[in-house]
Amino acid sequence: QKVYRDIVASDAYARQLLDAIEKESKRFNERKLKIMNFCGTHENTIAKYSLRSLLPPNIQLLSGPGCPVCVTPEEEIAMGLELATRKNVIITTFGDLLRVPTRWGSLEQCRLGGADVRIVYDISQALDLARKTKAEVVHFAVGFETTAPGTACAIQEAGNIENFSILSSHRITSPAMEYVMEHSKMDILLCPGHVAMVIGTAPFEELAQKYNLPCVISGFEPVDILQSILQAMCQFGKESSTAINQYENVVKTEGNPLAKKLIEETFTLKDATWRGVGVLPESRLVCRKEYSRFDAELKFGLTMPQIKATEENACMCGDVLMGMAPRYCPNFGGGCRPEHPAGPCMVTGEGACSIAYINRG
Ligand code: SF4
Repeated sequence: QKVYRDIVASDAYARQLLDAIEKESKRFNERKLKIMNFCGTHENTIAKYSLRSLLPPNIQLLSGPGCPVCVTPEEEIAMGLELATRKNVIITTFGDLLRVPTRWGSLEQCRLGGADVRIVYDISQALDLARKTKAEVVHFAVGFETTAPGTACAIQEAGNIENFSILSSHRITSPAMEYVMEHSKMDILLCPGHVAMVIGTAPFEELAQKYNLPCVISGFEPVDILQSILQAMCQFGKESSTAINQYENVVKTEGNPLAKKLIEETFTLKDATWRGVGVLPESRLVCRKEYSRFDAELKFGLTMPQIKATEENACMCGDVLMGMAPRYCPNFGGGCRPEHPAGPCMVTGEGACSIAYINRG
């Protein structure tokens, strides 16, 4: 880790940026500037290159609800668990989701118990499988606007295939960003460059103006993040805020029209629970009426179990997703480690707890 930190500290351009951030930070005197990121890849870069330790003490970098597996609530995973126990059903999903523990167990445990749960690297593998088998193939789809076009594409391609469907935990990012802007006291938001690559800059611009809070669409290298921080700091405190596009080589104003069209044609939005946040209106992508035959919830009559607010949960992922540093969770590194995760933030490589554990000093 020290090696990575030294790489940044000794890079001429990174040094210039760090000096400029230091200079700009004096403008805030003792005031702490809270900067939240919305992407596991940003958090990975920040932790791997020890950017927190290179910044002035009044700049606080916090991790937000930007890991799609981490924000998927237990209730939605429970529907996958229920389906996995049915006869003649094959569940496919990405590896991360398999290990997420819930109060009812995990998909991995179901698999060990004999259920047919398979890891795929791409939804097209699930579709191919449906073509070759008579069993029902249900793909558990998770992700933000970056992976949703792939799911949409598979649904459109499925045509008359009758034994293929999806359980959708796809989310869109804007409602979560709006929630953070409204309910937490962040000063600057680092926005996910790959999501912006799909949806364009307009949704971020709208939020920046509405809440007068600088938003920077950022790339993923250490210098991208440092440059984003500097650009947002220069804007902070001005009369109005805009969305700055630091990742302009990749992110176009209009986004990716084809990917947006696929999402729009295939999905509609539904209110949904986000772990650690609660219910966010119109934040979950589910199949449109025209494609409802591919909606596993409807096809198999699934219902989400209700969890009472008073039910205890030792995992503090909810707090971590809203900016709490993982080290403050009493389970961190003890009862909860990547090989024995107690919550989703320790399972996935995009989760703040596993990132903090892997990069612990
Ligand atoms: Fe949950 Fe483990 Fe993270 Fe604690 S350390 S919040 S138990 S995932």
